[in-house]
Amino acid sequence: MITPTPHHSPVDTGWIEVICGCMFSGKTEELIRRVRRANIAKQKVIVFKPEIDTRFSNDQIVSHSEQSHTSVSIKDTNDILKLARDYQVVGIDEAQFFSSDLMEICNTLANQGKRVIVAGLDQDYRGMPFEPVPQLLAIAEYITKTLAICMVCGNPADRTQRITKSQERVLVGAKDHYEARCRKCFDPPDEKN
Ligand code: ZN
Repeated sequence: MITPTPHHSPVDTGWIEVICGCMFSGKTEELIRRVRRANIAKQKVIVFKPEIDTRFSNDQIVSHSEQSHTSVSIKDTNDILKLARDYQVVGIDEAQFFSSDLMEICNTLANQGKRVIVAGLDQDYRGMPFEPVPQLLAIAEYITKTLAICMVCGNPADRTQRITKSQERVLVGAKDHYEARCRKCFDPPDEKN
C-alpha cells in the first residue's frame, strides 16, 4: 500500500491526515502506528477519543488487533483545543462520535502548526456518510481509506453491516453487532421496520 503520509514533514505548517473506512479495516491500528512513529521521534503527542467509546479502556485507544496507545477521553469536543495546546502531534480516534465542531477544531490545530491525525468511520450502518468525517476529508491534506475483508465473500470491504436489529445510529460494539461487507454483499437496513 502506498502510504499518503508525507515522507518529509512540511516545514513551518501543520496539516490534517484522515484515516477512514469501515469497521475492522484497521483505522485505529494505523493511527497507533503513526503516533508511535512520532513518539519515537520524541515529538509531543496527545491522542483523544470520545467519551462514548468505553469498549476496551478509559485511558487508551485499543485496536481490534489489541494494540493500544494512551488517550484522553473527551466529553465536549471543544475541550480538544485547550488540551492540545502544548503538543505537536494530535491524534483523534472515532471521529464520527464527535460533534460537527470537530472540522473547525482540526482546521484550527493545523493552522497552529500541528500535525493532526484523525481516524473514523466514513459511513454509518446504512451506508450513508457519517458526519463529521466527510467534512474532514474535504479539508485534509492526506487521506487514507482502509479496507476490510468482506465477511461474506472475501472481497475488499468498505461497508459496515449491522447484524443486530437496533436502529440507533450510534451503537458501540464490535463483533457482536457488526461485520465488514463489500458493496455487493452489503444489505442496508429497511428503515420502515
Ligand atoms: Zn462481499
